[in-house]
Amino acid sequence: MAYGESDVIATYLTATTGKISMLVRGGRASKKRVQGALEPFHTARVRFVERRDLATFKDAELVVVRTGITAHLDALEAAGQALRWARDLCPPRTPEPAAFATLSELLDALDAKRTESAVPPSVHLVAAGLRLLRDVGYGLDLDACVRCGKPCPEGRSAHVSGRAGGIVCATCGGEGRLVAASALAMARDVLRSGTIAPLSPPDLRALVAVVEDALLAHADIGD
Ligand SMILES: [Zn+2]
Repeated sequence: MAYGESDVIATYLTATTGKISMLVRGGRASKKRVQGALEPFHTARVRFVERRDLATFKDAELVVVRTGITAHLDALEAAGQALRWARDLCPPRTPEPAAFATLSELLDALDAKRTESAVPPSVHLVAAGLRLLRDVGYGLDLDACVRCGKPCPEGRSAHVSGRAGGIVCATCGGEGRLVAASALAMARDVLRSGTIAPLSPPDLRALVAVVEDALLAHADIGD
């Protein structure tokens, strides 16, 4: 975010401090000092001075450079969406190592050279969204009804409410969006083992809608 004549306020998701915003003096002018640390998809080691409201950026060294993301529009869009999700979900100055790992893994996957058969960026993104929710303590329960605890059998579709935090069975009102058994199976695999399988377009849309509902319910907008 531009600030004043030449400064920038940059928000980082850090491994050690969690989400933190910093004033980067001269950030709009001095490309050399900032060394790519204002480009959104890399990982950098950033030195900063802690202040109560807004930390001050000192310097940075790029650790993982992911220029491949910007070469593909679909990867670029997925990476941008993931950063917005992480920014909205992570509370300020609270270490979230699992969220940091999820985001790093997603960005690595989006940066990798892809073949025709690879899982598309939009599917990597929704998998990362499911994991980010769990990483910060808002994981969706896809095994049992969040109201009555009745287990949901594998191979069945179910209503899933991002707002309620998971499956809501028919007896409890079937709140949320009807998610097909195939989409539920994929989402359970992501949460159990990290395995990411391809999704049909309707299944992808259903899971994205559930993730976005959950994000809206828990987002920490405003920092
Ligand atoms: Zn129920």
